[in-house]
Amino acid sequence: MRASWIEAALIAAGAIVGWYATRRWRLSAEPPPRPPSRDYLAGLNYLVNEQPDRAVEAFLRAVAVDQDTVETQFALGALFRRRGEVDRAIRVHQNLIARDTLDPAFREQATYALAQDYQRAGLYDRAEKLLLELSAGGTYRINALKDLLGLYEVEHEWERAIAIHRDLGRIGKPDQPSAIAHYHCELAEVARASGDTLKARELLRTARGELRRFPRAALLRADVALDLGDPAHAIKLLKKVPVESPQLASEVLPRLVRALKAAGRQAELAELVAELAGDGREVADALAYAAILTGQLDSPALLALARAFLGREPAVAEIVGALLPDGALLEDAALARLCAAIRRQAQRSARFRCGECGFASSGFFWQCPGCKSWDSLKPLSPSDLAGQVGGKRGR
Ligand SMILES: [Zn+2]
Repeated sequence: MRASWIEAALIAAGAIVGWYATRRWRLSAEPPPRPPSRDYLAGLNYLVNEQPDRAVEAFLRAVAVDQDTVETQFALGALFRRRGEVDRAIRVHQNLIARDTLDPAFREQATYALAQDYQRAGLYDRAEKLLLELSAGGTYRINALKDLLGLYEVEHEWERAIAIHRDLGRIGKPDQPSAIAHYHCELAEVARASGDTLKARELLRTARGELRRFPRAALLRADVALDLGDPAHAIKLLKKVPVESPQLASEVLPRLVRALKAAGRQAELAELVAELAGDGREVADALAYAAILTGQLDSPALLALARAFLGREPAVAEIVGALLPDGALLEDAALARLCAAIRRQAQRSARFRCGECGFASSGFFWQCPGCKSWDSLKPLSPSDLAGQVGGKRGR
């Protein structure tokens, strides 16, 4: 509440500055301007005294009386949108745009503000129309392109998102360079779901052209290879992923087990796991944790990895150590039960967290639902999960 008040006070301060700016701008051409109305000053007073509703009423009265206060109207519109009163924000900005005499720079500002109102209200068609106008050129071009990108992502309009991402690439670096490779993967998933594996493969080739060493494309290519009855190729693709992207081990392991089974090469799992784990502790731990979370512990090689991994997890090691005599090892059956308990606990909690915004989720997403960053969700460790027990449940 206090933070939103600081924000509102800043908007009010901006409105005062704007009022003086408008005043100076008009000084040479027109008669001396009037001072701020009593309602406007009353509105400020309410803001300072943390009475938001009365402040908004006073500001509305001020604007109704003095239609020249363009900056005040912008401040009001922004305040309404932030408070979630989007209908009011839309009315304020529409009124501004409807003025015949409005300065072109203010008209552009009002159009962008209205597009933001429409986005906030979920009126995406209207927002898109205005953003397309603004993206043709002018002060708000880059903002409009970025907003369009976000809008097409929400609507899963991947081809349009690709075009906008390319436009952004031509006039400056897009905020998320890897996004375009994800858009191609999204399209490839659609093609694969409709049975068009040829198109899916072509799209995945383009995705790799956009971004080399792109693990999502490798996973999808492995899926397509499995669809086409080529598990050997799938195994070859999957082997590389945990080494380059250990955080995706839980996406890789079930696919790898499936591909080995399809190829009749289950016996190779132990060798493959040893080879991957030999790449370093990070990969070994990621694979072990993925095996625990996905319940792939039939293989003695994976169970051994899980034992070593849990021995290094402080929260788990301390509890297990307290239950066993000094130097004793947990038996395999007990270890499997412990892993199953951790899996059940993980299923009840958030398993992934966004490194950008902290959004916690029980499922994996390539794009964070909270902040819309790509590739920002990372798995939580068993110690993180232990910290969640009794705390907030994940989504
Ligand atoms: Zn996020």
